[in-house]
Amino acid sequence: MTVKRQLSMVLDLNKCIGCQTCTAACKLMWTNRNGREHMYWNNVETMPGKGYPKDYQQMGGGFDKDGALRLGRQPSQEDYGIPWEYNYEEALMTGTDPWLRPNVKPTWGANWDEDEGEGDYPNSYYFYLPRLCNHCANPACLAACSRNAIYKRQEDGIVLVDQERCRGYRYCVNACPYKKIYFNEQISKSEKCIFCYPRIEKGLPTACAQQCVGRIRWIGYRDDEAGPIHLLVEKYKVALPLHAEWGTQPNVFYVPPSSPPKIGPNGEELDESRIPLSYLESLFGPRVGEVLETLAEARQLKADGKESELMDTLIGFKHAEMFKLS
Ligand code: SF4
Ligand code: SF4
Repeated sequence: MTVKRQLSMVLDLNKCIGCQTCTAACKLMWTNRNGREHMYWNNVETMPGKGYPKDYQQMGGGFDKDGALRLGRQPSQEDYGIPWEYNYEEALMTGTDPWLRPNVKPTWGANWDEDEGEGDYPNSYYFYLPRLCNHCANPACLAACSRNAIYKRQEDGIVLVDQERCRGYRYCVNACPYKKIYFNEQISKSEKCIFCYPRIEKGLPTACAQQCVGRIRWIGYRDDEAGPIHLLVEKYKVALPLHAEWGTQPNVFYVPPSSPPKIGPNGEELDESRIPLSYLESLFGPRVGEVLETLAEARQLKADGKESELMDTLIGFKHAEMFKLS
């Protein structure tokens, strides 16, 4: 789907500390009320993990190899996590129950498997993966909507739901393989990340990027050859989409995480990285190994006191320079 310009985001997974400041910024700004409580337009998952909603990677959606739309399944309430309340009245006001406790037994929720990861000591590993709508160039949510309620803005490629046209059929929820469009039961309409367009229109970055403690996020236009997105995605080719095989052509890209070497049975360093390359390839595709080598070379240049445009960019010395919004 062609648009005049496409706004994009790059996230460096080597810098994410899993603090969830981005999640909180997004939630407070857009989704902490009015039927949006289960929505996380931005969330940060521990990988390997089941994600949010639970096991979303197995729910299907996107496009097949021939470009045909696949309707996956909708997440159930259990996949998001059953909402619960606390017995504030009894525990805090009347003292009839000494414990503050949930009124149902929680079994899942956003960030439920935080910091669990995989593997056994000394080779256990995990990393953080922040996720938001990819504002795809070929959005499955849009293709699935029989009401033509979902559209991509010409001026910046942001994917939005026209709330007047939406009738709550939820085909979009089935079709998005990232499960980044949500149904609002209170208003019977679908809602999703709006890439903070009211901020973008004022020349401000998204709230998640503005608040990012680790300075892991760059925002800019794909066609801006002087901008950070072009440098990371096109020039140095170190930023990759998540699950490109799902066919939606994401506009959110990730610099994959490097990791220390695996430790052998006698304490020796092995010639393989702690995070298995095959696992990273299952997320970010076959170029991950090449990207990790490029990153290692750039790091070595800096360690040797030489110049590296790539590493200087990845460090992000000045936060404001990570956003190029014109
Ligand atoms: Fe649509 Fe999902 Fe792509 Fe966002 S990530 S544009 S909701 S298909
Ligand atoms: Fe990671 Fe930044 Fe979000 Fe913290 S605010 S979890 S560093 S993306």
